[in-house]
Amino acid sequence: MSECIFCMIVNGEIPAKVVLDEDDVMAFDDVAPQAPVHTLIIPKHHYAHMADDVPPDTMLSLFSAVPKVAAIKGVAESGYRVIINNGHDAAQTVAHLHVHVLGGRPMAHGMVRFGSEE
Ligand code: AMP
Repeated sequence: MSECIFCMIVNGEIPAKVVLDEDDVMAFDDVAPQAPVHTLIIPKHHYAHMADDVPPDTMLSLFSAVPKVAAIKGVAESGYRVIINNGHDAAQTVAHLHVHVLGGRPMAHGMVRFGSEE
């Protein structure tokens, strides 16, 4: 998947601010942060979506990385939001599975805004 930007980050072909680098997952800061802390956690192998036969061990690695990233970014105590946009209606823009970790300031209650509200 050489045309996938997240695969290019995994392969070191484009730069990223790497937060965590493990055997099967890595985390890096979002290039267009939507909160003071906005880090993405991805599997190193390319899976476009959650249903793409992602091995359970990889799912475990992805979610186990969340509190590690939160601690590294200094939001473990203050709290953070964890989001996966999966597919068209969720406005997934990069077709490589990724977990958003957002924090650093209090957020409003609720998590869904529909396209017509923008
Ligand atoms: P999503 O809408 O859930 O697919 O989120 C994709 C995220 O990837 C967005 O928040 C983008 O800002 C982020 N993004 C796109 N390109 C890069 C990049 N080269 N480095 C870091 N984050 C990126």
